[in-house]
Amino acid sequence: MTFGARARIRRSAIRHNLQLIKSKTPGARVMAVIKANAYGHGLLPVAATLDGVDCLAVARLEEARKLRNGGIKKSIALLGGALSMEDIEEAVLLDIQLGVHDEQQIRWLEDYKGASPIVWLKIDTGMNRLGIHPSHSADAIARLRTCASDLRLMTHFSSAENPDDPTTQDQISRFLPLIDDFDGDVSIANSAGLLGWGDALAPLDEFRRQGRMWIRPGLALYGISPFPGRFGADLGLEPAMQFEATLMSVKELHAGDRVGYGGTWQAAEDTMLGIVAAGYGDGYTRYIPTGTPVLVNGRRVPVIGRVSMDLAAVDLGADASDRVGDLVVLWGDQLPVEEIAECAGTIPYQLLTGVTHRERPVYEDI
Ligand SMILES: *Cc1c(COP(=O)(O)O)cnc(C)c1O
Repeated sequence: MTFGARARIRRSAIRHNLQLIKSKTPGARVMAVIKANAYGHGLLPVAATLDGVDCLAVARLEEARKLRNGGIKKSIALLGGALSMEDIEEAVLLDIQLGVHDEQQIRWLEDYKGASPIVWLKIDTGMNRLGIHPSHSADAIARLRTCASDLRLMTHFSSAENPDDPTTQDQISRFLPLIDDFDGDVSIANSAGLLGWGDALAPLDEFRRQGRMWIRPGLALYGISPFPGRFGADLGLEPAMQFEATLMSVKELHAGDRVGYGGTWQAAEDTMLGIVAAGYGDGYTRYIPTGTPVLVNGRRVPVIGRVSMDLAAVDLGADASDRVGDLVVLWGDQLPVEEIAECAGTIPYQLLTGVTHRERPVYEDI
């Protein structure tokens, strides 16, 4: 029997989330972001589930290679682009669209002799991570026109998950003049952008109506809220992943007994100790502190003591009647990963991408 921590993925949830996202931005084209093993949901199965999107986006050439080797025919964009001439050659061979964010990448493309790829020029409108400075964009556009089969412009928000942060409006304001007389496709919004900044993006309505505006949802596709303090369900999204494991041991614990490595938790009174077959080796991170909830037979009980590599301890309570083999939900529909991330002092992105899939994931609603 499979008893270690495993991800159960509901494909119907991913399809539902895609429909919801599309209904928020009618006419927009969808670049579905499936980097980092589709946020831990499985690169190829998710790619196959997303047949209603216009393009798939990944962060690494290796991910694009896996998609093509796995028989995915859909358009693929490599957000980070090529980091060598060989990368360009392989990307063109695999029919991959290339992000361009640096002067060096433009020079390689100018020197490249083969067929021209579709290029997404990334403009840095204030995140100060990847991208060409707006003052250099005209030059970059002129040069890339000679070596791209189709040139598109994009930028990325740094702070869209915070509705009160003026940075997002500033970034939009810096991007708009650059696309004013641009005749190609453009792309700005990630999940937080498209779910939280619809009004601020209204100046792009013409692009949207003409089918020239691309959205780039990642997290929302998997049913998770990008906004701190809000859950996917608040936004009409359905979490696609349930991360679950099995109860491996149930036994009495007496007042004063300490639990786990370092004995960091001590029983104040007699209770029942449950040991769950999930640990940081599965992606149930060691940053999960005492008190973090799990569901045992649908009931919330707290993690106690340190999470170890293969195991975690929970306080089942003195009256518990749970048994070895019972299901334990670590996060999912009834226990939002947003809440668990908050407990662990991190964000849902990190918990989801951290799932190691020591046990094979289970896919439902094929
Ligand atoms: C990861 C990424 C996205 C998706 O972001 P979400 O917050 O998951 O929606 C979009 N665009 C770029 C450039 C990214 O790197």
